[in-house]
Amino acid sequence: MTNLPDLLRTLHRILKQKTDLESRMARGPKVVAANTALVKNCEDQLSAAKELSLKTRMAADEKQVQLKQREQRVERLKGQLDAAANNKEFQTLKEQIAADEQANSVLADEILELLEAYDTRGEEVKEAEAKLATAQRELAATQSRIDADRAMLEGELARVLEELAKTEADIPGDLLDTYRRQVKAKGENCLAEVDGNICGNCYQTLSPQVLNSLMLNRTVPCGGCGSFLYLAER
Ligand SMILES: [Zn+2]
Repeated sequence: MTNLPDLLRTLHRILKQKTDLESRMARGPKVVAANTALVKNCEDQLSAAKELSLKTRMAADEKQVQLKQREQRVERLKGQLDAAANNKEFQTLKEQIAADEQANSVLADEILELLEAYDTRGEEVKEAEAKLATAQRELAATQSRIDADRAMLEGELARVLEELAKTEADIPGDLLDTYRRQVKAKGENCLAEVDGNICGNCYQTLSPQVLNSLMLNRTVPCGGCGSFLYLAER
């Protein structure tokens, strides 16, 4: 039978491995969730960019139709010049034509601006598409990496749990109940290695009496955190 410090040391090592494996297994789905959220975010950005691009295009088209109608109106007015009954009517038509042409030129500038904006929106759509593609690739890579890891981690955990059961079978009867309670509540922290004269779990300085008891291979809980203490291997 192994002596008590060796047993506690082995138990602590196995419990730490168990914690580590479990936390690595828990991390996988969180990483996938974060990557999935990123993809969703990129999809939202892409659809917003597409909508803005479409709105800009529609505004430009609308103004182009308007301009066409107004240009036709100017042509009609010009046609009426020859038929003007008198000089006053001719002058009024001339003024009307000048004002309309001025307004049309403003409208043409607005259309040009909208078309430029439409080009910019198009670039933004392309950027958003590229970002989405990258995020989707990353998600797929993460997913397959984590699937592969999980199979490996599950195997490791099964091995560690088996080793834990074997080691726990060696725990002396008078200690077993307390151990079961503590390990359930505190996990690997139910055990603490003594570093010099300090508890490795709560860093409290241990009294010489406690250290003496440990030298005699007795089971001593830390006065600070209650963890079972064991001496570091020499
Ligand atoms: Zn302690």
